Amino acid sequence: LKGNVFKALEEDAAEEGTDVSAWKDLDLSSNILSALSKMGFSTPTPIQAAAIPEILAGHDVVGKASTGSGKTLAFGIPILENWIELCGELDEDESKESRPPTALVLSPTRELAHQLTQHITTLCKGLSNSPYVTTVTGGLSVQKQQRQLSKADIIIGTPGRLWEVMSSSNTLTDSFRQIKFLVVDEADRLLTEGHFKEAEQILNALDRQQDADEDDDQHSPTRQTLVFSATFAKGLQQKLAGKGKQGLMDGQESMEY
Ligand code: ADP
Ligand code: MG
Repeated sequence: LKGNVFKALEEDAAEEGTDVSAWKDLDLSSNILSALSKMGFSTPTPIQAAAIPEILAGHDVVGKASTGSGKTLAFGIPILENWIELCGELDEDESKESRPPTALVLSPTRELAHQLTQHITTLCKGLSNSPYVTTVTGGLSVQKQQRQLSKADIIIGTPGRLWEVMSSSNTLTDSFRQIKFLVVDEADRLLTEGHFKEAEQILNALDRQQDADEDDDQHSPTRQTLVFSATFAKGLQQKLAGKGKQGLMDGQESMEY
């Protein structure tokens, strides 16, 4: 978290909290609205209603909401909104190759990574310009994944395989450093299922360049960090707090809804 306003969101106390009860309150693009309607999702879930405006406003978010509460689209929708905005700005002749990826999503397991990809891809079907979404997990050759990654806009993967791919290609790692959204999904499981070491290596690799950019006084891309979890046990809070220059869970503005 690099000085972005940080919001901690919990789904508890949802009833009396937010005023947002409809997709139209969230200021979304018409393509997204019609895709949601085609998916049969008539209203946002509480975590979606709370997280989407914060992410669209450029804040880092730590969101806690139980399993099945719609956390995927809580970060998936703002990432796609950002993508739509980017497409409007892109030059006609800006080639796919030269475009850095928009988002990197860390998922604890292969199954969850594929579910995320499917869910986000379904939403993409409504867009006039679909991002290239790719899943990076064990099962495919590293070479094949590197080729897919070189043209990816949204990357969803398990830390183990992502780190394997990143540590074998400086070019890819450099392009990952330009992402606008870093998502740590199901963070509790990422910790308990033993992938935290690789996740930490990935975060460190991404951070090194940002620090270097700041030192060089160059333009440093602003990256939003989004952490979602069903629970925030003490161990996870400590791990996350140890990551940032500033603590992740302590002393920051927190919002309940
Ligand atoms: P979580 O990550 O919180 O466990 P998911 O994002 O996987 O939950 O969503 C759980 C289920 O809810 C999925 O099947 C998804 O299609 C569905 N879902 C997501 N958002 C909505 C919504 N706004 N309205 C209805 N169903 C939704
Ligand atoms: Mg989930």
